[in-house]
Amino acid sequence: MVGTFTRDLIQRAPAIARPHIIDSKTVDCEYMQHFEIRTSDASTPAHIHIPLDYFTCRDCLRELNDHDNRRYRYPFINCTQCGPRYTLIRALPYDRNNTTMSIFTLCEKCQREYNDPLERRFHAEPIACADCGPQLQYRDKADTIEDSDLALQRSIKALQDGQIIAVKGIGGYHLLCDAGNDDAIISLRTHKPRPDKPLAVMFPSAGEDELELIRQAAVLSADEAALIRSPARPIVIVDKKSDTGLSSHIAPGLQQIGVFLPYSPLHHLLLQSFARPVVATSANISGEPLLSEQQEVQQRLSHISDAFLHHNRAIARPADDSLVRIISGHARLLRSGRGMAPMELTLPYAIARPTLAVGGHMKNTIALAWSTRMVIAPHIGDLDSPRSQAIFEQIITDLQQLYEVRAERVVCDAHHGYASHRWAYQCGLAVIPVFHHHAHAATLELEYPQQTPWLVFTWDGVGYGEDNSLWGGEALLGRPGSWQRVASFRPFRIPGAERGARQPWRSAAALCWHAGLDYKAPQEHKLVRHAWENNINCANTSAVGRLFDAAAALTGLLQQASYEGQGPMLLEANSTRLQQLQALPISERDDILQADWKPLLPILMDHTISLPQRCNHFHATLAATLVEQASLARQRYGDFQVGLAGGVFQNKRLTEFVIAELESEGFRVCYNQSIPCNDGGLCAGQIMEAITAV
Ligand SMILES: [Zn+2]
Ligand SMILES: [Zn+2]
Repeated sequence: MVGTFTRDLIQRAPAIARPHIIDSKTVDCEYMQHFEIRTSDASTPAHIHIPLDYFTCRDCLRELNDHDNRRYRYPFINCTQCGPRYTLIRALPYDRNNTTMSIFTLCEKCQREYNDPLERRFHAEPIACADCGPQLQYRDKADTIEDSDLALQRSIKALQDGQIIAVKGIGGYHLLCDAGNDDAIISLRTHKPRPDKPLAVMFPSAGEDELELIRQAAVLSADEAALIRSPARPIVIVDKKSDTGLSSHIAPGLQQIGVFLPYSPLHHLLLQSFARPVVATSANISGEPLLSEQQEVQQRLSHISDAFLHHNRAIARPADDSLVRIISGHARLLRSGRGMAPMELTLPYAIARPTLAVGGHMKNTIALAWSTRMVIAPHIGDLDSPRSQAIFEQIITDLQQLYEVRAERVVCDAHHGYASHRWAYQCGLAVIPVFHHHAHAATLELEYPQQTPWLVFTWDGVGYGEDNSLWGGEALLGRPGSWQRVASFRPFRIPGAERGARQPWRSAAALCWHAGLDYKAPQEHKLVRHAWENNINCANTSAVGRLFDAAAALTGLLQQASYEGQGPMLLEANSTRLQQLQALPISERDDILQADWKPLLPILMDHTISLPQRCNHFHATLAATLVEQASLARQRYGDFQVGLAGGVFQNKRLTEFVIAELESEGFRVCYNQSIPCNDGGLCAGQIMEAITAV
């Protein structure tokens, strides 16, 4: 009987429970009258796990739409199987008193459900109903409406009228508008300002598998369909159809869009009534963490938003939507947020001391590790603004408090200019600086621990490297804590290298000048040329990300980017089909296999060749070069496992082709899955680099 109980406890646990048995022992029988949940014993060491925010379950959805249910159309319905957790927990243990729901006193009916072990809402900490729980508030220039039902109706009317509305969700605010309305989207883009960056689209759930409306706009593989419906309800990047019914301003120039389903009861209510897809983009000021406070949203978004849909359930800390893409048959996390973070992982080996890793500068994320555990906080954002830095510090304090772990040392990127680096050196703890690409490479050992050495291709924009130059096209041989750079690209001098990401023409001009070719650049050209010739404010870089930028400019796709990665994304969107090509010439310099990008230039600039052909050529040549570098390294150093890390590998076209080509040459290839391959994964790699340090 005990055996059956043990088995059922695990196998028949509710869908989102993750029970496991830590220990078992024989005890004398103790007869009890009732089932009870006892308060946590503070004297024993805590083994803390933070529950994640969970999408509205089927039972709650049914009640939400049931006229006779007392929570009919109540936007904050939840149960033990669904609802917010991480974003409303102020402290642990996870009891209502320690959440942002503590200000709402339970009504008699809710209290009864909360106390009854046979109820679905037994100990559902955020339990609420229209009589006792949070309420909506609608505000526009003329009105403030406190009644939840009316507030909802007015919000839907605003969407129908083509207005932009800031809606408070689970981890922060979204800006919502009709995804079929060009004017609304143009206005959103102009005021945010976000001229080109793709916008995510939320679709009403429809049909048996909820995806009927998404299928009208996008081609979904079975994996993508499952991913959209997975518990985190992430934004999934998928191929869009040619006639989507959506505004062409949603993802200009791209073949793919980010789609997701409603995940909170409030989103369900809005989308059900509106019955059409909406643009749902994080309400933030470019690159900052998303906004989660009513006052701040009113102040900072009033120039964008025609109306606001607030509610009075406070958000303890922001969490953006998670972003995922299927590449080579597996879901690859590109941004970790609501429903996925904090991400709790087991380290392949124990870390000597509790350690905090503060990540990079762009797409900043932090991690905390102790014993054999690592926790990665949700995506924070770019650390350029005081608000980003304030949230960064809040999350550092917060994470240590929640898990009751005090970091004894801190790992940061070796780049002196990063705000996270400066913070690390001011925080008073011992600091371990880690080179950017060493951290990228080390993420693979975390996901695929093994005995053999690695050869990791770390291709991205720029990061500070060992020789004082800006890396980003390296292949690193070894293991976490001991990497040897064995392959790279011919370095080139770029004026204002770190600004290069937003100005692809600088990369194009630099390559051409090196090669003795003429380049017709924008007006700044002469000054920049002067700076380049005299090596003023220039840096040497071997970054493949900059080669992508250069290619985007040379093919005429764009000279100025309005968001990071725009050039590479346009190149990917304009490539059609890749086939095997020759690798770039590779020569040996100081024991490094150096590929020369020069032969790419005449082809990229040859406007008699079609754009897709040039884009294909660029991708396929880089892929062939990677495979050739791996082959040469194998001849020289023997067997290794190949890894791919760094933002360049967010490119599905390139990555899938590279993986197939490597495998056909007999290489085993690993690529990040639950750790973002972009800078969002740096903190995890930093921990892996520090794990060997005592
Ligand atoms: Zn539920
Ligand atoms: Zn109630």
